[in-house]
Amino acid sequence: MHGPRPVLIVGAGFAGAVYGRTLAEAGWRVQIIDRRDHIAGNAHDAVDANGVRVHTYGPHLFHTQNKEVFDWISRFGAMVPYRHSVTAQLDDGRLVPLPVNRRTLEMLYDVPLPDADAVNALLESVAQPIENPANAAEYLLSRIGPTLTDLFFRPYTRKMWGLELEDMDASVVRRIPLRHDYTSNYFPDDTYQVLPRDGYTALFHSILDHPNISVALDTPFDKAMQADAHWCFNAMAIDEYFDQCFGALPYRSIRFHTQKRPRDQIDGTAVVNYTDDGPMTRETRWALLPCHEVNPGPDTTVTLEEPCSYEENNFERYYPVKTADGRFQDVYRRYADEAARHDRLSFIGRCGTYQYLDMHQVINQSLVQCRKWIDGQS
Ligand SMILES: Cc1cc2nc3c(=O)[nH]c(=O)nc-3n(C[C@H](O)[C@H](O)[C@H](O)COP(=O)(O)OP(=O)(O)OC[C@H]3O[C@@H](n4cnc5c(N)ncnc54)[C@H](O)[C@@H]3O)c2cc1C
Repeated sequence: MHGPRPVLIVGAGFAGAVYGRTLAEAGWRVQIIDRRDHIAGNAHDAVDANGVRVHTYGPHLFHTQNKEVFDWISRFGAMVPYRHSVTAQLDDGRLVPLPVNRRTLEMLYDVPLPDADAVNALLESVAQPIENPANAAEYLLSRIGPTLTDLFFRPYTRKMWGLELEDMDASVVRRIPLRHDYTSNYFPDDTYQVLPRDGYTALFHSILDHPNISVALDTPFDKAMQADAHWCFNAMAIDEYFDQCFGALPYRSIRFHTQKRPRDQIDGTAVVNYTDDGPMTRETRWALLPCHEVNPGPDTTVTLEEPCSYEENNFERYYPVKTADGRFQDVYRRYADEAARHDRLSFIGRCGTYQYLDMHQVINQSLVQCRKWIDGQS
C-alpha cells in the first residue's frame, strides 16, 4: 500500500472510475466522491417502470478503434454487439438514413443513384458556387446545396447550439460525414461497437468493486477535503473549482422528456432525429437497443431531447460551447495555467478539461495519464 493518505477523486463517471481502478490496482487507497446520488456519471442507466433500461443522460453508444480501451472495459462485464444507425424524420413522416448516404439522396430527390459518380453529379448540381466559404452556412451550401443544408443542418444547429449556421466557423462542419454508398452504420470506422449487456451502472459497480476503493455519493467537493489527500484528481468543472475567477465556461445542456408508448408502435432505428423547427432534436426508443427490454410489457419508453443552455437546466454541463473566435477555449487555458500552479491537483475528464469527449476517449486519456502519474511517483 502506498503512503498514509488516500488519493481523492472527484466524480464517479468514466474519468474518475478509470483513475480509481488503475490507482487501486497499483496499490493506492482511493476515495471517490460524487455529488449525485449515483455512480457512472453521465453514462448512468436504470430500468424504469416499463421494464426498459433507460440511459439517464441520453443514449450512450460505446464505439472505438482502440483495442486496449475495449479490452479494459470488457474486463468488467459482458458486452453485446450493437451497430448504431440513425434515421431522420421528414415532414411527411418518412424516415431517411442519417448521416446522409446514397439512400437518403435517392429518397429526397426521388432519383436512382447507381454509383458514387452519380452521387457526386447530383451534389454538384445542387451545390452553390461559393469559392471561399466564410462560415458554416456557406461551406455547406457550396458542398451540398440548400435543400440538405436546410433540412439536416440548419434546424439542428439552431436547436442544439442556439446559433445560426452563418454565425459558426466553417471548420465546425468541414468534416461532416457524407456517404457515397448505402452505409448506415453511424460509426463505420470503429472496430468495436458494443453495449454493456447488464447496463453501464452494473459495469461501474464492477469497476469500482476493489478493496482499495471507497465511494461516497451525495458528497459535493469541498476544498478542505484536499488537505487529507495525497493527490486530488478532479473531474468537476474547472471554472467552478476556481470560483469562476476568469469568467464562466458555458455548456449546452439537454432536458430529457420521457414518454410512454405502446410497444407495438415502436420499430425502425433506436434514435430518430427530428428535422422540424420545434424544440426537440431527437428521440431514443430504448426497446430497440439490445438487452434494454429487461421486463418487457405492453408499453415502452421513449425519451425526447430538448437542448438548452446549462443555466436553464440546473447547471447540468453536457457540451462545452465552441465559438468561431475560440474565446471560451482561451478562458479555459487561463484556468488550466492556474491549475498547473497548484500542487497535488490534476483536472481530468470532460468538465475538468473543458472538451467534449466520448467515453472511449475519456477512458483512453485516463488510462494513459494515470499510468504516467503512477510511474512518476515511484
Ligand atoms: C447527452 C450525451 C450523450 C452522450 N452520448 C455518448 C455516446 O453515445 N458515446 C460516447 O462515447 N459518449 C457519449 N457521451 C459522452 C460521455 O457522457 C462522456 O464521455 C463521459 O460521461 C465522460 O466522463 P467524465 O467522467 O469525464 O464525466 P461525467 O460522466 O460527467 O462524470 C463527472 C462526475 O463528476 C461529478 N461532479 C461534478 N462536479 C462535482 C462536484 N463539485 N463534487 C462532486 N462531484 C462532482 C458529476 O456529478 C459526475 O457524476 C454523451 C454525453 C452526453 C452529455
